[in-house]
Parts: sequence; C-alpha cells; structure tokens
Amino acid sequence: MSFSVLGLRPDLLRTVARQGYIDPTPVQRDAIPLVLAGRDLLAGAQTGTGKTAAFVLPMLQRLAERPSNGRHVRALILAPTRELALQVEESVRTYSGGHARSTAIYGGVGFGGQVGALRRGAEIVVATPGRLLDHARQGTIDLRSVEILVLDEADRMLDMGFIRDIRQVLALLPDRRQNLLFSATFSKEIRALAEGLLDRPASVQVTPENTAVELVEQVVHPVDRERKRELLTHLVRTRQIDQALVFTRTKHGANKLAEQLNRDGIAAAAIHGNKSQPQRVRALADFKAGRVLLLVATEVASRGLDIESLPHVVNFELPMVPADYVHRIGRTGRAGETGTAVSLVCVDEAPLLRQIERLLKVPIPSRVIEGFEPNRSIPAEPIRMRSGQAGRGRPTAQRRFDSPNRAPARSADGRRRQRRRRPQGTYAR
Ligand code: AMP
Repeated sequence: MSFSVLGLRPDLLRTVARQGYIDPTPVQRDAIPLVLAGRDLLAGAQTGTGKTAAFVLPMLQRLAERPSNGRHVRALILAPTRELALQVEESVRTYSGGHARSTAIYGGVGFGGQVGALRRGAEIVVATPGRLLDHARQGTIDLRSVEILVLDEADRMLDMGFIRDIRQVLALLPDRRQNLLFSATFSKEIRALAEGLLDRPASVQVTPENTAVELVEQVVHPVDRERKRELLTHLVRTRQIDQALVFTRTKHGANKLAEQLNRDGIAAAAIHGNKSQPQRVRALADFKAGRVLLLVATEVASRGLDIESLPHVVNFELPMVPADYVHRIGRTGRAGETGTAVSLVCVDEAPLLRQIERLLKVPIPSRVIEGFEPNRSIPAEPIRMRSGQAGRGRPTAQRRFDSPNRAPARSADGRRRQRRRRPQGTYAR
C-alpha cells in the first residue's frame, strides 16, 4: 500500500518521498486516516514501528487545514525523556520541511532558551511533563489553545512516575481537543488513563508478538560489507545453513546475490516485485521441492510467501525499520517449531542492530566466524538503497547511521531511515 491512499496532502507526500519512505508502516497505515478524520486514538506501538510519523504527519495536515497566526500552542506532544522529546521535535521539523513552528521543552537545562523560543511563538510543543508544568506555573506557556494532544510512550511516562504531572497538564488544556495515546504496553494504569482521556477512541495495535521471536534462535555474524556473500556461501558449504529465506534490501541486491550464489555453485533464486508471476511461482516451487536452496527475497516479496516451517531466515542485510526484523524472523519458528535467524552485519549496520535490540529488549548473541573476522579499520559507509547511485550525492539515497546514539536527533546527517518498497499482491497461497 502506498502513502498516497492515506489522505495526506501532496506536500506531505513529497516530504515522505524525500525521506525515502515508499510504503507506510503498519501503524502509519492504520493511524494516519483515523487521525486525519479527527478521531481520538489508542495506539499500541513501540519505537521502531514508525509511530512518530504516524502522528506527526496527520497532525501537520490537521493544523494546516486551519491556519493560525502561529503564536499559540496548538499541538502538545508529551514524551517521557529529553532524548525522545528532541527526537520527536526533529521529526516535526523534518516532516514539515522546516515550516512548522515547533520547540522542545525538557528539564536539565536552563529556562532562558526555552522561554525565548516560546515567546517567539511555537505551534507545536514537544515536552517532558515536569518541565512543561514549570513553564505553566511561571506563566511562560499558555496551553489553552491546544487542539491536539499526544502522549508518546505513555507507559514509560507512567513508569517514570509522571502520572500526577500528566493529570496536572491535562487540567490546563481546553476540553475540546483530539487526543492520541501511544504506548508499547497496556497496563491497568494505562487503560485507566486512556479511559479518562480519550473520547470514543479508535484503536490500532501493531506491537510485535514476542512469542514468535522467542521461538527463534537468533545470531549475528559480524562481517565486512564486501565479504557477506562469501560468508553466506561458507555457511551453506559447512552445512551451518541448509534451506533458507535470505533477505536483501533491494530488488537489485536480491538479483545480484542470487546470481553470485549460483556462480558459487549454490542453487539460489530471487523473488521480488519485478519478477513475473510465473517466475515467482516457479522459484517458490523449486524452493519447496528443495531444488533451490536459498530463496533471496525483498521484504515485501516475502510477505505473501506461503512456506511452512522454514528452518532458517538469513538477514543478508538488516532491515531499515526495526519492526521489519521481527516480521522477517517470524517466518521461521512457526507453530511451536524452533527456527534460526542469522544476520550478517557489517559496520554500516551497527546502529540498525542497536535499534533492533532495543525493540526486542534483549541483545542478539554475536559470533564471529573464523576466517571472516571483521577488519576494524574499515569505516562505516552510508547505506544505499538505490542501485547505481553511489557517489552521486542524492540525499535520500544515502543515509548515514554513524551516530552511536539514536537520542538527540539533532544532527542533519540523517538518521531518517528509508525503505524501498513496492506494493505487491500475495501469491502462491
Ligand atoms: P519510530 O518508530 O517513529 O521511532 O521510527 C523508526 C524509524 O523508522 C525512524 O528512523 C523513521 O525514520 C523510520 N521510518 C518511519 N516511517 C517509515 C517508512 N514508512 N518507511 C521507512 N522508514 C520509516
């Protein structure tokens, strides 16, 4: 499904395209139309699912539908930590193309700068609850014009003891407003908060099922970027991997890998959106019959594949959106059977791996394969999603992941991730 069917205006669609996003993530697909329609929302989604864009994009559109003088706070996003507040505010700037007047309000720094920013006028305020209340008490912020309230990572805010602060903030807001609550988990306390806050909310649930993940034995093999194919061949030849579904990020990458594997004497076939239906059906039949050992697929192509009890999934490249990792490895370990998920990770992908581990809430065991020890002197490079664009300096095609901290998303080096996807029907069901 493409972004264009969600009801977003052309300028926002262009923004999304500039980010390199092709298709909406599940939470975006479900939440954006509901928010655009003015509904209150209870959303179960955690970091890594694309939740920020799921509320920021429709929020920007709703605000733009009724222009104002830009001096009043019209949207308030509450976040548990300074890092998240900064990150969300960065997303507001990015998605609005720098046009929205926004600011982040958080503790641990002086008041002066924040007061100045508020005086200059901020329509969208991203804040941690405590510092926001301090401003309210000092009269440096007026929340009586808020039209949209977002509680981001509400469960973490409650865990951090913010419930009283949140209730005090709510008391400062006008009664008529749209409320969106995002939370990874739903405790009794969250439900109680939601009940008092939301008006006939629509609900959206995309939190990955951890049970599927628990059945899968996961391992990361660190390896140099240029030696991944060689390592995969080695793993197959040494029988550490037999039949596997192998994920690449791009269709071009899938084709190239399948060709190289075939040259290595390993029966492989690529399956992706550019292949005709008969080609895909044949590749899948060959795989099922064991004539093809490695089926190389892009994310989307894998969705409709009907393959039972897959013993191995190989992430030849990590996905750009952490939640996709969970979907991918969910292809194995089904129905109580154990499976293995092997990820070949090079230096460029270290930040992606950290995000995935944060989503899973556990580190993935890492094992260097003898003879494939990574060369530590190789520097990280931007991850390229479009073939043939190397070195042409196209900003959306070359995103860097070189900051070890996801937190203060202030750098312009683009921690925005991208994913190439084409809508595609299911097949071979
Ligand atoms: P979030 O869950 O909001 O922290 O987002 C996780 C990451 O996914 C962010 O780095 C986003 O830039 C990226 N992202 C969000 N939406 C998409 C999309 N539709 N396609 C690809 N990447 C996305």
